[in-house]
Amino acid sequence: MKTTKGLYIHIPFCASKCAYCDFFSVSQDTETMENYVNALVKEIKDSSLMHSNDIVDTIYIGGGTPSVLPLYLLERIVNALNKYYHLDLSEFTMEANPSSLFSPQSVKELGIDRLSLGVQSLDDRLLKLIGRRHDSNEAILTLERCGSVFSKLSADLMIGLPTQLIDDVEKSVSTIASLVNHVSVYMLKLSDSVPMAKNILKGAYSLPDDDTFADFYDRTYDLLKQSGFKRYEISNFAKPGYESKHNLKYWHREEYIGLGPAAHGFVNGVRYVNPSDIKSYVAGKNYGNRLAEQIVVAKEDAIFEKIMLALRLPEGLDINAFNNEFQIDFCARYRDVISSLKGILKVKSGRAYIEEDKLLLESAVAREFLI
Ligand code: SF4
Repeated sequence: MKTTKGLYIHIPFCASKCAYCDFFSVSQDTETMENYVNALVKEIKDSSLMHSNDIVDTIYIGGGTPSVLPLYLLERIVNALNKYYHLDLSEFTMEANPSSLFSPQSVKELGIDRLSLGVQSLDDRLLKLIGRRHDSNEAILTLERCGSVFSKLSADLMIGLPTQLIDDVEKSVSTIASLVNHVSVYMLKLSDSVPMAKNILKGAYSLPDDDTFADFYDRTYDLLKQSGFKRYEISNFAKPGYESKHNLKYWHREEYIGLGPAAHGFVNGVRYVNPSDIKSYVAGKNYGNRLAEQIVVAKEDAIFEKIMLALRLPEGLDINAFNNEFQIDFCARYRDVISSLKGILKVKSGRAYIEEDKLLLESAVAREFLI
């Protein structure tokens, strides 16, 4: 029987490194990008043999910055996907940065029908501080250009940036809400190794405190709601019908294939992470992701994953489906947890979900379900 999966491809190149970012990426040069795409095409071919019984219905090309790839290389990737995988696409997304997306029309002609732009802010001072290459003007012009080509257009925004004020948040959100139909709101989290964390340690600037941060989030939510967006995941807002089908697979704990260094995948109950190593990848050492670190998800871990991911969604967990999948009784098993979370977690009409104004507590609530 054919099964349906998503497919993620990692493009690990960026024009420069942003001050807060610890994603796996290296600087772009044409020769490395060509070698990388050769290896990726080989991985697409080899991995497709393991997925001959799968139909891929969503593709997400992320990074890094996929839009730094020259069009002919992007075309080679898309051609390989069409050639080797069984595609029946309901969504094909590519991430892009405003400073490197030169021809939205050409991208669309490859079959990509959804664009996600890394805008982050429309405040020039903050954009400079976080090391983005675009300014607000370029971001708005790019959003307008893309909006005339792509009917599904998303923008990433960041809240909780050092020195960010509520005015900055309001201006960015209001403008972006008028230009796109999907917004991902990223709440800044820093690993110790990134330059921004080091600057904070040195006292160059500080992060907003938790209350300020919650105010930013609530204001963002209000403004997007007023503009017709619905929150469908803690960090994601969409006009009706414009939710990301690919990303919903992650939160529904559905399976997806991950290709390229640093890509994650989840196939046949096994989660894997491909090595973050372009050199060995290009040398052909980890085609077909079988050198990836693999984690067979034990039943208890799967149960926790399912609850934790579902609690990120306003509609929460479908209790019947959960009980059927794991052959347990959710309400009986978690009676004490449910009662201790009264006022935060609601169990009603066959679903367990976090109250609308408490969704930001999702991590703490999920931890209560750890056994
Ligand atoms: S463009 Fe994106 S992936 Fe690249 S360094 Fe900046 S945040 Fe990280």
